[in-house]
Amino acid sequence: MYKVVIGLEVHCEVKTNSKNFSSARNTYSEYPNENIDTVDIGLPGILPVANKDAFRKSLKMALALNCKTPDIVMFDRKNYYYPDLPKGYQITQETKQVGVNGYVMINVNGEDKKVEINNIHLEEDTASLDHFGNYSLIDYNRAGVPLLETVTEPCLHSADEAITFLEALKGIFLYTGVSEARTDRGQMRCDVNVSLMEENATELGTKVEMKNINSFNNVRLAIEYEIKRQTEILKSGGKVMQETRRFDDEDLKTYPMRSKVDAVDYKYYIEPNIPPIKIENSLIDEIRSEIPMLQYERIQKYMNEYGLSRYDSDIIVRDKKVSDYFEETIKLKVNPKSSANFITTMILGYLNKYEKTIDELYLTPQMLCELIHMVDEGKISSKQSKQVFFKCIEENKEPKIVVKELGMTQITDDKTIRDIVIKLLDERPDLIEDHRKGKNTFDYFVGQVMKQTRGQANPSITANIIREEMEKR
Ligand code: ADP
Ligand code: MG
Repeated sequence: MYKVVIGLEVHCEVKTNSKNFSSARNTYSEYPNENIDTVDIGLPGILPVANKDAFRKSLKMALALNCKTPDIVMFDRKNYYYPDLPKGYQITQETKQVGVNGYVMINVNGEDKKVEINNIHLEEDTASLDHFGNYSLIDYNRAGVPLLETVTEPCLHSADEAITFLEALKGIFLYTGVSEARTDRGQMRCDVNVSLMEENATELGTKVEMKNINSFNNVRLAIEYEIKRQTEILKSGGKVMQETRRFDDEDLKTYPMRSKVDAVDYKYYIEPNIPPIKIENSLIDEIRSEIPMLQYERIQKYMNEYGLSRYDSDIIVRDKKVSDYFEETIKLKVNPKSSANFITTMILGYLNKYEKTIDELYLTPQMLCELIHMVDEGKISSKQSKQVFFKCIEENKEPKIVVKELGMTQITDDKTIRDIVIKLLDERPDLIEDHRKGKNTFDYFVGQVMKQTRGQANPSITANIIREEMEKR
């Protein structure tokens, strides 16, 4: 068995109004070549201007990934020719990146792991090419869109670890608002480097890079295929070639694309048209203060402080708005477990079914607390609370009003319930006799009490009283 080594280079489009170095709009469009400007199509004499918002968001992401940020940031030109790169070079960061030496904490199947980040840098996206029979079309909408590349150290050791990291990274993009990170729109794409080494070897094996994989599931399949392919080569005494391969999402195999290009081939040099940007400490402090508590820390808090399970915590933090909603209810002094239960079952069940988001829900955190309090105080049963929930959101009414309208307040008063029970037992001595002989007639009496009180008698108090009164006879 060989040890698997994986390093990821993840590209993610930054959410801004305009492109990274031009004033063309940065928005997803179904129409080709709608959002372009002279800079994006590389006309002679163009001058790029750095986008302040893209720059700020890059720093935000660098800080969220626990990276060190430099005093001065610069851009570099990476020279190569390809039809989707009209300028003949890509503006990127090689000498001074927005972030270096960071880490992300993840939890893989119950175990914590620190994923080291080599660097994060800001660059520009390329145009996109559509290939047809004997011609191709170019769409420049994507050309010049700000792109953040996050590069991990070769510290991941399984497809599970790689996918968990990608999900965590996506979560950080969403929580910080730096990107929408939609893989279905190609906003988040990944180059996957895989190598194998002997279990106790000290040097890393030869890696293969698979470019531009655009779904997490394909990342998993590509890694699994590559592990199998490289294992077979090594077992038969062969050597893995250092190369770039393409993952085919139809037959789920990887194919050679080209042999590896080295950094030196790109003839990097500092982009002369964008002056170096000085980063003040005050800017870093300001940006840091805008980063909300992230998923990993929220999960820790929910488990340690609120006693939730990892499973429930994971579900709640998946969407920041849901997690914020949950935290609002905690501030209102509701039992965290009751709140979490209601959110993960009733609320998310409803939102998923109708494809809605939590801010479209009529029930505010305040109202959810009211509802939970009524259950905790025994005013209504938990079964009734579900009925109230649906009526609230369907008719836009507060829980208190709905409970009143449905005449739902629970009967918890001992004497009221006991009187009903005694009368029922008096009427049916035959069933008490049957009960003694081992037949279950208990449920019949519970049913009768519920019938007479229109379901309002508290079920556990009712059961206790029936048990007590039956024993007396
Ligand atoms: P290159 O110079 O070939 O681009 P880098 O050292 O910059 O290589 O690393 C690029 C990516 O490849 C990083 O994500 C890194 O973690 C990963 N990587 C480097 N060496 C290996 C290896 N032996 N096996 C797997 N991944 C690797
Ligand atoms: Mg590389």
